[in-house]
Amino acid sequence: MAVTRHEAVTTREAEAAHEAVTTHEGGNAHPGGTAAGAATVLDAERVREDFPILARTVHGRPLVYLDSAASAQCPRAVIRAVEDYQMRSHANVHRGVHLLSQEATAAYEGARDRVRRFLNARSTREILFVRGTTEAINLVAQSYARPRLGPGDEILITALEHHANIVPWQMVREQTGCSLAVAPIDLRGELDLEAFRARLTPRTRLVAVAHVSNALGTILPVAEILSAAHARGIPVLIDGAQAVSHRGIDVRALDCDFYAFSGHKLYGPTGIGVLYGRESLLAEMPPWQGGGDMILTVSFERTTYNELPWKFEAGTPNMSGAIGLAAAIDYLEALGLDAVAAHEQRLLEEATAELRRIPGLTIIGTAAHKASLISFTLEGIHPHDLGTILDSEGIAVRTGHHCAMPVMEFFGVPATARASFACYNTREDVRRLASAVRKAREVFR
Ligand code: PMP
Repeated sequence: MAVTRHEAVTTREAEAAHEAVTTHEGGNAHPGGTAAGAATVLDAERVREDFPILARTVHGRPLVYLDSAASAQCPRAVIRAVEDYQMRSHANVHRGVHLLSQEATAAYEGARDRVRRFLNARSTREILFVRGTTEAINLVAQSYARPRLGPGDEILITALEHHANIVPWQMVREQTGCSLAVAPIDLRGELDLEAFRARLTPRTRLVAVAHVSNALGTILPVAEILSAAHARGIPVLIDGAQAVSHRGIDVRALDCDFYAFSGHKLYGPTGIGVLYGRESLLAEMPPWQGGGDMILTVSFERTTYNELPWKFEAGTPNMSGAIGLAAAIDYLEALGLDAVAAHEQRLLEEATAELRRIPGLTIIGTAAHKASLISFTLEGIHPHDLGTILDSEGIAVRTGHHCAMPVMEFFGVPATARASFACYNTREDVRRLASAVRKAREVFR
């Protein structure tokens, strides 16, 4: 049975991933670490072996991949799970009586349950597969906000949002006449929580905030945001695109209303993402796209819609993507989210200290609580030129506005270079980054 083979593959890879983690009593305890002073330590060299792409060279140099905040690389477990599905079980889901279709359906719906467990959601009815964070937010905009909002109503976001959490609300503003309020950030890139609270008014109908800023690394105080909004009965959407790979997400403990993320930032495939939605809200929302799979009956006079979650999944879904995403979650959980987070925080601290020593380098985003990414500028060098020089050294960083133009405007820079760290990065990667940045500085002097 192919479904069983999937399990066999992911279990074998997960066991290998386990071996990459050792537990040291009395080590540097991470806030999210294991109990009784034991800290889990990730063997990043061992982890790297699970990611075939990391073995390649770029411009004749060993690849240093520091762009995981844009798209993380896939471990072999994910590549194999997708390949195995495509080689053995691929068929359209939900409508077939034949064995392959049943296997594909079982694997696809099994992936949904894997995501449910990952998020600790109550029910798979609350887990919608979408293309990614962008589609998830657009779904909420069109299906939750658009039918409910009108002139006088307000959607509240923050000043550090990705365009994916700005533009869909502007479209709703155009469609309904509602307005968009923006809670400010300070010069460290932290949300001004008092100002945020002050912007919650009787007119606020929805709050939509990032969990982690992709441009600055700031971890937002989502618990405080949720409790302030919920005290006024306002639902909250959290854009978790940059958070899911760095911290365990428990949607029940958070008590959020919507949570969105993308598979490709979680070591999974592209073209797959998740919208978690509180069942009571999803049940009241109309479908946003029509077509096959989202219906129960269709006649020219009247169509009845399918149950949750399929009501929101019109058309043939991304089966292999969902299966790959489930394998990515297996892999990450086997490494241990706490061990990964502690490892990434160590790299963040080291990289911050190293880069700070470079004259003319400014770190943009210095919040007290940051995920493992650093945005920076180097005096006299445009970030794109810097990125090109780093690339010639085999180092992949992102340069540009990071789909957060208002953040760039706030800090008065056209763009930044951004290095982001994942489970497979090492101190050697940090060292090579710092030395290549120094070299770039010499070139442009
Ligand atoms: N929100 C944030 C914070 C992001 O970092 C990203 C991706 N850069 C998105 C939303 C959009 O994700 P996707 O392109 O996968 O839909």
